[in-house]
Amino acid sequence: MDTETFRRHAHALVDWMAEYLEGVERFPVKAQVEPGEIARRLPPAPPRDGEAMERIFADFERDLLPGVTHWQHPSFFAYFPANNSPPSILAEMLTATLGLQCMMWQTSPSAAELEARVLDWLRQMLGLPEGFTGVIQDSASSATLCSLITARERASGWRANVEGLAAHFGMIVYCSAETHSSAEKAVGIIGIGRANLRKIAVDPRSFALRPDLLDAAIAADIAAGLQPIAVVATLGSTGAGGIDALRPIGEICRRHGVWLHVDAAWAGSALVLPEYRWMIDGIEHVDSLVMNPHKWLLTNFDCSAHYVRDPDALVRSLAILPEFLKTRERGQVDDYRDWGVPLGRRFRALKLWFVIRSYGVAALQEIVRAHIATAREAASWVEAEADFELMSPATLALFAFRYRPMGVDDEAVLDRINETLLHRLNDAGGAYFTQTKIAGRYAIRFSIGQRTTERRHVAAAWREIQETARGI
Ligand code: PLP
Repeated sequence: MDTETFRRHAHALVDWMAEYLEGVERFPVKAQVEPGEIARRLPPAPPRDGEAMERIFADFERDLLPGVTHWQHPSFFAYFPANNSPPSILAEMLTATLGLQCMMWQTSPSAAELEARVLDWLRQMLGLPEGFTGVIQDSASSATLCSLITARERASGWRANVEGLAAHFGMIVYCSAETHSSAEKAVGIIGIGRANLRKIAVDPRSFALRPDLLDAAIAADIAAGLQPIAVVATLGSTGAGGIDALRPIGEICRRHGVWLHVDAAWAGSALVLPEYRWMIDGIEHVDSLVMNPHKWLLTNFDCSAHYVRDPDALVRSLAILPEFLKTRERGQVDDYRDWGVPLGRRFRALKLWFVIRSYGVAALQEIVRAHIATAREAASWVEAEADFELMSPATLALFAFRYRPMGVDDEAVLDRINETLLHRLNDAGGAYFTQTKIAGRYAIRFSIGQRTTERRHVAAAWREIQETARGI
């Protein structure tokens, strides 16, 4: 494709992008297709000769768009948001155009130095103290993995990477029963065995890890000759938004020399609001923390901000230096390939820089604050209806509920009714929800956080929930 043709298509594409952002509400939120339906539309073999962009794009609209779930739809209430924004999209266009591979300072000094600066801006925005150094990982899962690798290395006297784990039997990691599955996945990957992850019970009302049970579990493991190495605490658990208390957990970790990693993948964005900084009371005991601007801070996936108190420990655990990666500046600069698992890295700092500069801190705060206020109000609507039950309180912008028609008390029947409700809502396409289990019972999560979600979208979804439920 020559440059002039590129320019023409790029302009046309930008027009399409602007219309999409403007008109995304006309699509069903969740893709309304059956498994295999999209694959059947795709030729089984690649074309021998190049095709015109007009044709490729027409096929995108005809064959692929129906299989797209519209995450940027204002009635997307499923999972957690993965929102974007116009400035973030513009930065992604630039990133793609530059096509950088930012593995080391030398391979793009601007990328490395911007990453350091913008993550320090974000640190200030979140109210994290000085002394935390940030790096952008591709996902919270990767950040948690890297922190647990560092905890394992430290606990093995920096030998496990080289010797394997045969000589380091008995390492144990702790989290709560509500912790995201990425912690369990990481514990498996670092080789200490998923069976050595202790899932500590939570308080049944707040869904927060019980520090007293954590303390007892660690003491019992030490008495049994095992080696507690890390605790993963959560700010904003995925099912019910539980916020673990960092101070008591941190004090336990300090007492036992255990690494404290905080998964604030979703709720971390709420730290832009000073009124939610109580969530990081006890931060002085934290070794590492991850939060995802790619969830609730208007920055395109992938952008996970991973903060560590001791970057040297992270680098010591992950650095490897073959001849072909040696540079003159090594030692004077940050080579971020040593701060994570993959060698290659995208230029991710650019979109976060665009977002923070384009919106400014105050506007980002207002967006997050409005989501939280709307969620609180929606939870009060649920509470006001006798045939609905609030299953978890509105923590930040998330709550869970279920339909409980008069006279139906059988829990298994209620589970089935609510599963039916969820599927009917999602199949209708007007809004998109996902489920969780609260105290073993099926509940529907209402998660608010799209950039364009307004009170009217939430109110319309609530009307649809009631009508659909009462029609079951
Ligand atoms: N931690 C929590 C609390 C989450 O809710 C999620 C995803 O929703 C993750 C971690 C995983 O995030 P990522 O997709 O960035 O790995």
